[in-house]
Amino acid sequence: MSDYVDSYYRDTNRVTLAPTPRLAGAARADVAIVGGGVTGVSAALSLAERGYDVALLEANRIGWGASGRSGGQILTGFGTGMSTFAEALGATAARHIFAMSREAVSHTVARIETHAIDCDLRPGAIYAALKPRHMTEFARERDMLQRDYDYDGLTLLDDEALAARVQSPRYIGGLRDAESWHLHPLNYVRGLAHAAQTVGARLYEDSAAVRIEPGSRPVVHTATGRLQADWLVLAGNAYLAADLVPELSGHVMPVGNYIIATEPLREDQVASSLPGDDALSDANFVLDYYRLSTPPGTSPRLLYGGQVSYGHRPPRRLVARMQAKLGRLFPALAGIGIDYSWGGLVGVTRNRAPHFGRVGDNIFYAQGYSGHGMAFAGLAGGLIGDAVAGQAERFDLYARMAHRRFPGGTRLRTPLLVLATNFYRMRDLI
Ligand SMILES: Cc1cc2nc3c(=O)[nH]c(=O)nc-3n(C[C@H](O)[C@H](O)[C@H](O)COP(=O)(O)OP(=O)(O)OC[C@H]3O[C@@H](n4cnc5c(N)ncnc54)[C@H](O)[C@@H]3O)c2cc1C
Repeated sequence: MSDYVDSYYRDTNRVTLAPTPRLAGAARADVAIVGGGVTGVSAALSLAERGYDVALLEANRIGWGASGRSGGQILTGFGTGMSTFAEALGATAARHIFAMSREAVSHTVARIETHAIDCDLRPGAIYAALKPRHMTEFARERDMLQRDYDYDGLTLLDDEALAARVQSPRYIGGLRDAESWHLHPLNYVRGLAHAAQTVGARLYEDSAAVRIEPGSRPVVHTATGRLQADWLVLAGNAYLAADLVPELSGHVMPVGNYIIATEPLREDQVASSLPGDDALSDANFVLDYYRLSTPPGTSPRLLYGGQVSYGHRPPRRLVARMQAKLGRLFPALAGIGIDYSWGGLVGVTRNRAPHFGRVGDNIFYAQGYSGHGMAFAGLAGGLIGDAVAGQAERFDLYARMAHRRFPGGTRLRTPLLVLATNFYRMRDLI
């Protein structure tokens, strides 16, 4: 799996951090955080803003995990439908939960503005229909969210309205979410990290937690140091080693997901592919997603994602297969050059709802956003900050959700997920 340092995002990184040394020797903090993605960095920023002394340990580089490799879509909602929450927690809790998914998006936008994070933020996301059944499902979803969740952000697009924004012969219509956005994810997460540094958070890179001693003041050990704190936040998500915290093992399945970036597009190629500059996802269970990325002073590239793998190895002939799919989706881009490809691990839970909770009363975790975490992980960091400060009601709304481990232990859970996914992949073809 390629490091983000080889990716398109690395080559367009515009955020410089203050020094982020390796942890060496013994250190102390009010709060220790393991993991430097959006969850961990957002928690660091929220806690440092509240006046806590925060130290964050990242095994690689800030944003190295899913956050700095992602599709960059900042979406309302979750990786599962609202019925998952309503059935588990009741209608009132589900309404709060949906409102918080909207808050996650506005919170992301507000932070980008407050901290002047240079990350190419653009409005609009569209779910595209490949067949009539998808349009029926979209209409049902829009009506349900309007009726039960007071959400007016969704507009159904017929084929003509869609064609004004997305020029693909494969789609028959879509659903546009005016409250969703897209951005450059590595610049966003590093921008958050920079903001956390300016309010005093200490960030350590190349500092993997290799052992954790729980207790009244937990201790995190790295190869070259130890960090003791009153509270510990676990934000390693799909990258957290299964044996580091046995209480978390088996709850999150790491699923590989891959993106290609085209060569820079000409104006006529943009006009005949994505003239609306929205973020797109199709309506399949194993979905394709894409958007234009246009850092200042550059021509847009199309970033196209969606191939999955259930090991740490990319699928065979990844680039050629994705390039061919892209050509079928946008005939104007058939044979376009592909300059970059990379992959990352999505943390998927069994019910596709985020997995929040505590180990003992001073270790907090948030993980398993199931492909929908770029906005929500930002809010999760803030909820952890509130919970550490003694206001845990909103964190606990998610922590109350029951989560089951993937069956089959570490050896069998991957084949079982492949079987389940293949079932949905077949359903997508019908
Ligand atoms: C290819 C891809 C595309 C995606 N597209 C989207 C999208 O468009 N929209 C969306 O909403 N979501 C998307 N997602 C999901 C989204 O990226 C994640 O939900 C989100 O980034 C999770 O953030 P996180 O901070 O919890 O985890 P991560 O960003 O994965 O961060 C975890 C960090 O913890 C570190 N770590 C792990 N173990 C240790 C340890 N022992 N010691 C120290 N550090 C450790 C890792 O190195 C890593 O940097 C995508 C994911 C992938 C992989």
